[in-house]
Amino acid sequence: MTPTHSYSDGQGPLPTAVLNQIQDEMFNYSNSGKSIMELSHKSILARDLIDDTVERLRKSLRLDDAWDLLLLQGGASQQFVMAPLNLSKEFDKVDYVDSGYWSQQAISEARHCARNVSIIASGENQHYQALPSIDTLNSRADARYLHLCTNNTVMGTQWHQLPDSPTPLLLDASSDFLSRDIPLENVNCLYAHAQKNIGLAGVTVVAVRKRAILNNNLPAYLDYMSHITAGSSYHTPPLFSIYVTNLMLKWLEEQIGGLSSMEEINRQKAKLIYDAIDDSRLFRTHVNESDRSLMNVVFSTGNSISDEAFAMYCKGRGINTIELHPRGTGLRASLYNAITIDDVQSLVTAMHMYQLTLS
Ligand code: PMP
Repeated sequence: MTPTHSYSDGQGPLPTAVLNQIQDEMFNYSNSGKSIMELSHKSILARDLIDDTVERLRKSLRLDDAWDLLLLQGGASQQFVMAPLNLSKEFDKVDYVDSGYWSQQAISEARHCARNVSIIASGENQHYQALPSIDTLNSRADARYLHLCTNNTVMGTQWHQLPDSPTPLLLDASSDFLSRDIPLENVNCLYAHAQKNIGLAGVTVVAVRKRAILNNNLPAYLDYMSHITAGSSYHTPPLFSIYVTNLMLKWLEEQIGGLSSMEEINRQKAKLIYDAIDDSRLFRTHVNESDRSLMNVVFSTGNSISDEAFAMYCKGRGINTIELHPRGTGLRASLYNAITIDDVQSLVTAMHMYQLTLS
């Protein structure tokens, strides 16, 4: 049976080729005679898998020796805490942009570790349907970092350009990681949880500039240095999640031919659906046009009963999971890497057909 892809915001879908390979290797990983789930994390095979995954990620992000790349656990929620603890001292200035739900979580968690947190710009007065203008992102002199959430999964907005900030950036790239090329010149640290465009949940990727890590005498588990020294195996690593991440990275390299083509495909997918919304008399989106996310399309019929009816209509056509937005503001279709142009085309067709049933 061919699985149907899901437009859910998480867990994001896995490419069919990856699911097939997992099935093929389930009882015998790399001729070991064992399932990857039973492999010792101290074995050579496990070490090779972790090293290969780190190497592929480094290559995709074009990281040089100035950077470390870590495979951690604890999700982005843990990085809301771990990043400030490692990149700043208690009384340092640390700046944040409030672009909606996940950035607010990051701000609230940072306040547990840093005494001088400032929100330097916010989308609140535009109900987070627009991002603050990039020219207004003036971080404080000698702030340690400026935190941005590159794609706002809940609000449906995305920074299409990063600020040319004199303050180094700290990025939560959880929901657009490896969906596009993110320039890292001004960045000191980027973290991304799984699973959206890569992974399986259980792995969190952290790319951090060596020089940005401070010696803060942290508990070992929270200290990036412990994980760097131990090659991302400071404690028992989630091998199955790393394995699936590795397969997805290979899929990205083989099927698509690199990040810039993936970005182009993601642009085409998003254009198809935003065009369908803009051309429709039923569907609408309130997200500011220039800030629209290529990953999470937030839209509505303007009426919660009819939103729900459309989600059910999609389900009836085998289109999973057009979600009712958790904020009660309509629907959300997430277009992560494994969603194909054909998948989006079926959703667009469903939008047209549904409107015909109403006329
Ligand atoms: N940041 C963003 C942008 C997210 O989309 C999410 C999860 N959807 C998180 C952070 C939280 O990630 P986790 O569940 O791994 O803590």
